[in-house]
Formats: sequence, C-alpha cells, structure tokens
Amino acid sequence: MHKDMKYGSDYKYIPATSIGSGVSIQVLPDLYCHTIQIVNIILIGNPETNEFILIDAGMPDSADEIIAVVEERFGENASPKAIILTHGHFDHVGAIIELVEKWNVPVYAHELELPYLTGKMSYPEPDPTVEGGMVAKMSPMFPNEPIDLGSHVEKLPGDGTVPHLPEFQWIHTPGHTPGHVSLFRESDKALIVGDAFVTVKQESLYKVFTQEQEISGPPRYLTPDWKAAKESVQKLAALKPEVAITGHGLPMSGELLSTSLDKLVREFETIAVPEHGKYVDKNFH
Ligand SMILES: [Zn+2]
Ligand SMILES: [Zn+2]
Repeated sequence: MHKDMKYGSDYKYIPATSIGSGVSIQVLPDLYCHTIQIVNIILIGNPETNEFILIDAGMPDSADEIIAVVEERFGENASPKAIILTHGHFDHVGAIIELVEKWNVPVYAHELELPYLTGKMSYPEPDPTVEGGMVAKMSPMFPNEPIDLGSHVEKLPGDGTVPHLPEFQWIHTPGHTPGHVSLFRESDKALIVGDAFVTVKQESLYKVFTQEQEISGPPRYLTPDWKAAKESVQKLAALKPEVAITGHGLPMSGELLSTSLDKLVREFETIAVPEHGKYVDKNFH
C-alpha cells in the first residue's frame, strides 16, 4: 500500500448485495453507471474519445471490478483523467487507494469533505435506531473512520466548475455529509446526485436487494443534518433534471423523475426524515 495513503482502521468488506450488483447501464452515450454490490459508480465520457472521469469509488475490496469495468468500456490500460467524489462515505471511497495507486490521477472533493478524506475527522456513528429495515440495523458495522488520501485529494474549484468536465457544474448539497456535492449538466439536464436523494429505500435489505424504484431521501442511518438535507433536495428539484443517477438505486428519468422529486420535496418530512433517531431534531416533524 502507498505509504502516504491509508484506509481507516475499521475498513472492511461489507457483505451486502443487490440483484443489480455487477450490472452496467448506459444512461446516455457519455454517462455510464455500474453497480458495485449496493452502490453506483459513474463513468462520464464518450468511449470514442477515450477521455473520461470516474465519479465515486465503490465498496471496499472492489478495485479489480472497477478496473475491469473501465477497461471494458474504454480499452485495456485506460485510466480516467480524475476521480471526483460526491462525498467520502465508505461505500463511495471503498477502492480509491488501489485506484489512485494504479492510475496515479488526482481526486477532487468539496473543501468541507476534506477532513474525512485526509484522516482528520470521523463521520458520526451510523444510527441503527432509525426505522426502515435491516440495512439500518446493520449500519453499526459500516466503517466510519476517515481514510487518508494525503496529498492525492484536492478541493474542487470554488467557482462551481468541475475539472475535466467543462459542461458540468458542481452543486453543494450538504445534509447527508457536510461537503456532499452533486453534478449537473445544463444542456441535457443530467444530474449526478450522489446520496442527496436516492431511488431505492436504502434502509431496507429487501428493497436494496430488489432495487425496486422508490424515491427516497438520503440514507437515514448516515444522515445527521435533516434541515440541510431538505434544502439540498429543494435545490436539486429546482434544476428540473431530466435524468438522475443516484448513489444507490436505478437511474430515473422523465415524468417519473419529475413527479417523484416534486413528491419528495412536498412530503420530505414523511418520506425522508425518520420518525425517531439520534440525529432527528425533536422539533423537525
Ligand atoms: Zn453516503
Ligand atoms: Zn452511499
């Protein structure tokens, strides 16, 4: 392992899966989504140009699968120009050290997420008391200690531009984590959501497994700031996205996306916020 990068001491393989695991979907000619167990990675870039960016870095122990997906789409020994992280949760940075070692590319994240990516700060403990199902109950086993990417991670530019993706802008969507970002392309209204909202009820082992489409707020057991999370969903809904790729669940588009997002904004307190839980403000409901 690279001497100036290391995972947290609680880093480990997590035995959770879904029927989508290992499946790739070409959402648009230059937007490609692949599911690692229960989380999505996204490749942005047209295979003909051979220039692309990786969004997020999958589950622990998934580097070989990510490299295989990249090489299948972009050719042998292909490597992205950069890796952009929507946030630093274990299921979005699970293979990042192996990937940075192999490709030697920069990693970008929001400035407020850097303490969790440079070994300085742990995420809050997951909250298993939120209702919703077995994944929430399993959440105490999830790693929450920070990884340390040392000098390999940089902050995203302050002006909203995204390195190597001139058509996209990053949008600060905190709540799930302080430095959570989503990416938006105005020309076709394509939205890379991260975990600001998801299209599967991520707390439920059964629904995660079947990937049944259902708009949902950010994963409940790992979201400490529900007020910010609501504002972030409002911000994304106001963009009127035509297609959305979320960190968990299947991509959603068109009418289903717009009606689902409107409903999530309108009924955020009942759909997204847990009835009880250690991060729920008593006055929020
Ligand atoms: Zn997350
Ligand atoms: Zn996630």
